[in-house]
Amino acid sequence: MSGTAGTAICLLRCDLRAHDNQVLHWAQHNADFVIPLYCFDPRHYLGTHCYRLPKTGPHRLRFLLESVKDLRETLKKKGSTLVVRKGKPEDVVCDLITQLGSVTAVVFHEEATQEELDVEKGLCQVCRQHGVKIQTFWGSTLYHRDDLPFRPIDRLPDVYTHFRKGLESGAKVRPTLRMAAQLKPLAPGLEEGSIPTMEDFGQKVTYNNPLAIVTCAVKNLVASYKETRNGLVGMDYSTKFAPWLALGCISPRYIYEQIQKYERERTANESTYWVLFELLWRDYFRFVALKYGRRIFSLREGKTGVPFVDANMRELSATGFMSNRGRQNVASFLTKDLGLDWRMGAEWFEYLLVDYDVCSNYGNWLYSAGIGNDPRENRKFNMIKQGLDYDGNGDYVRLWVPELQGIKGADIHTPWALSSAALSQAGVTLGETYPQPVVTAPEWSRHIHQRPRAGHYIWTKPSRRITESVRLEKSSEIIESNLSPNITISTECHIQSFFKQLQEW
Ligand SMILES: Cc1cc2nc3c(=O)[nH]c(=O)nc-3n(C[C@H](O)[C@H](O)[C@H](O)COP(=O)(O)OP(=O)(O)OC[C@H]3O[C@@H](n4cnc5c(N)ncnc54)[C@H](O)[C@@H]3O)c2cc1C
Repeated sequence: MSGTAGTAICLLRCDLRAHDNQVLHWAQHNADFVIPLYCFDPRHYLGTHCYRLPKTGPHRLRFLLESVKDLRETLKKKGSTLVVRKGKPEDVVCDLITQLGSVTAVVFHEEATQEELDVEKGLCQVCRQHGVKIQTFWGSTLYHRDDLPFRPIDRLPDVYTHFRKGLESGAKVRPTLRMAAQLKPLAPGLEEGSIPTMEDFGQKVTYNNPLAIVTCAVKNLVASYKETRNGLVGMDYSTKFAPWLALGCISPRYIYEQIQKYERERTANESTYWVLFELLWRDYFRFVALKYGRRIFSLREGKTGVPFVDANMRELSATGFMSNRGRQNVASFLTKDLGLDWRMGAEWFEYLLVDYDVCSNYGNWLYSAGIGNDPRENRKFNMIKQGLDYDGNGDYVRLWVPELQGIKGADIHTPWALSSAALSQAGVTLGETYPQPVVTAPEWSRHIHQRPRAGHYIWTKPSRRITESVRLEKSSEIIESNLSPNITISTECHIQSFFKQLQEW
């Protein structure tokens, strides 16, 4: 190591944010030059482990590119920038150390899963060879790993409720870090590097813009999150924080503080608590990954003939998003009704989800398959009952399975149970215009020709939601034009917009 000025390389991975970022915070106080670095790691674009699907699909790639651009702009306003390179972080960091000669530290947030841990090992090796200090932090969860009341990690409960109650009674969320308004400069002579395009990865975006859905989602949410969170259609039934959380663009502690502020200044209510409750699921699966390590790794076209499943799978393919209710159902269908390998579903989700997060995805899939942290072994969703409970009028199915649009009301969930006259009137020919179900479960028959019960989940403002659905389906252009030509919805903008709604409520 030569030179006297200390340079810290801050390797950013799933922590693409300038706020509450301990990596940047540490570097700011311990180096003269700070290099925020993002590497497009070629391994993230190879095939998945079992089924060789591309690991990163077009929806998430686009979201990632926009997040990288957004972070670069934010850092520029703070007198720095985001240095971007294509290559394995271990190799890129090694090259930078050699090129600059002034690097004294490499700083990054620790991850929980194998491939990410392998990268960390590689980085440690490079740093050891060059006599450079490695400084790491834990920073992805709401509750800090070191504050868990279950230590060592082997003592993490295998039941979520025990985990949640343990944390709520025995741990505190740490405050967010106060970040400097101006960051230390890059090391002299360093090129910032260009941000690649979709085309550089041989990908192009399909028709819908998931970010468009994201912006609209925050409207009117918090007042009724607890009631709406199981929704399927529309912009505003859940926070849509997941993609930003998955890439670390939002710190969960920041969300926590904003909710606390609201609760202090206005009122605490079930809906605000429930957002935190859900965030704890995210923490839980990350800690489960820490506990079990490698062991957690062990329907694509939406043409199964089961409309509720097909609608969800098609939404995922078209937008990169699926509601939590949908995810639970398709996971149950794939593993319990079709008896297929859950890894197939998990890898398909990995490929397509904008908010793909290795711990949340694999943790939830294991949970759904009954091999993870679910104490109820025989838990199985009834597709027809779920369809009736959460999509009573069939509008969600009608939105994504247009070939069934002619079937009125809840009957759309069970086309195979309709008379041939009813089918012909609806313009449906099973086996031709829409498939016969690949499987039917005996318990479904109890719900055939049943109307949704009063008190089941029915949208409170159906007319508005339907209007939104139609807009979504009929014209992605309407969404685009409603949202301004600037597709990038910055992290700051998303957070502010969400909490503005919170304040107004
Ligand atoms: C089979 C399956 C796979 C999933 N894969 C992913 C994934 O790859 N990435 C991901 O972020 N979520 C995953 N989830 C969890 C959940 O479906 C999404 O977090 C949620 O639908 C995202 O929408 P939202 O941000 O509007 O969530 P909201 O309902 O507004 O919840 C707020 C936040 O809490 C967290 N959260 C909520 N539910 C869960 C949960 N069950 N597990 C972990 N975190 C949760 C998310 O960070 C979310 O953004 C999966 C669920 C299932 C059943």
